Amino acid sequence: MERDQRRLIINYAGPEGVYRRISLGSVLEGAVLPDAVRHKIVVVGVTAQGAGDRLFTPLSSGIGMSGIEIHANVARTLLDRAFLIPMGLPAEMAGCVLIAAACVLGIAGLRGVRLLLLLAVVGAAVPAASALALSGGRIWPMGSFLAVFLVAGGVAGMGEYAAVTIALRQSERKRRDYAFRVQAIAHEIKTPLTAIQGSSELISDGTVSDGERAAVAGLIYKESKRLTGILHAFLDVERMASGSLAIEKKPVSLHAVCDEVLERARLYSARKRIRIEAEVDDTSVPADAELLSFAVYNLLTNAVKYSPKDTVIRLGMSEDARSVSVWVADHGYGIAPSEQERIFDRFYRMRRDDKGDEEGSGVGLALVREIVTQHGGRILVDSQPGAGSRFTIVLPKV
Ligand code: ADP
Repeated sequence: MERDQRRLIINYAGPEGVYRRISLGSVLEGAVLPDAVRHKIVVVGVTAQGAGDRLFTPLSSGIGMSGIEIHANVARTLLDRAFLIPMGLPAEMAGCVLIAAACVLGIAGLRGVRLLLLLAVVGAAVPAASALALSGGRIWPMGSFLAVFLVAGGVAGMGEYAAVTIALRQSERKRRDYAFRVQAIAHEIKTPLTAIQGSSELISDGTVSDGERAAVAGLIYKESKRLTGILHAFLDVERMASGSLAIEKKPVSLHAVCDEVLERARLYSARKRIRIEAEVDDTSVPADAELLSFAVYNLLTNAVKYSPKDTVIRLGMSEDARSVSVWVADHGYGIAPSEQERIFDRFYRMRRDDKGDEEGSGVGLALVREIVTQHGGRILVDSQPGAGSRFTIVLPKV
């Protein structure tokens, strides 16, 4: 041990009663038998508190130690070879890393009370372990360990704060999203509901003639169907987003799907005298026919809604070894690059169209993207403001 050339650290923490005190008076009175001191080292000196021969040791804690006790400690440490041995730099580093790792793992894996509990345990273990080590003659660097613990604990606190803040923001965003949805549903439902109310009032107060009654009833029927459609669309978005709408993929004839959709879309586009040109090969693709036709119909009706009158829309397809693509191209108002990602968000409408004549809820494209994603495919948009847009659905062949 001496070869280490390290400092000699005296252990002043001798347990109580290590040094037996025998007063000079009792020796002079002959009350001490020779056996009491035989084979023992006797240190003679003054131990009285006010004697002035007192010094502080690292463990004195405010009460000085008498000079002879200090000498006794020095002698005992040397003779027993009970020097205090410092932990050493490598072990100190390892200890710091261990404490930091415990805190980091705690931050990563635990939250709230559990994290606090872990930090409390580590915080209490550092001084406890140091005290235990000291009683075994080892000096542990409690200062370094506590510093590492405090830094790691601080980081843990900040991490916890950040996690709570993020969770709070997320829940706030969800709440706003929900409120927005409720508003959007209310807004969407309001129009057909007003039409139904107005028309039924006309019938009930006898304002309409017998001849007109059938037409008004037809309007009520149409609007109530629209209402159902809106509700279905909303429910489908929710169910699809939560993953509870199962997709049934079967080989579907793309030609047949597009034919059926075109028929409906042409009725819709007639009001703006928009022509839809289509060229679709008879390719089969594994898909849910109903959802696929919903997606293509949505792209076509959007193209109609966001194009000026008397323009042309084209519906086409292409395929390669692994995928089939269906695209809808229009010569409409187009979409600015900054908006091209956002139009797929639920309830997102471009400001231009929110104020325009075309009714909408901002749900359609979110639904289309959800459908395409559930099929393992993707949707692309290529658009230039003022020049038109092209939406492409890419579906895998298997
Ligand atoms: P909605 O049509 O009900 O508003 P969508 O989700 O279908 O909702 O579309 C979101 C927004 O994207 C629309 O409000 C519109 O601003 C824009 N958009 C969609 N399709 C086109 C298109 N073909 N041309 C220009 N803008 C479009």
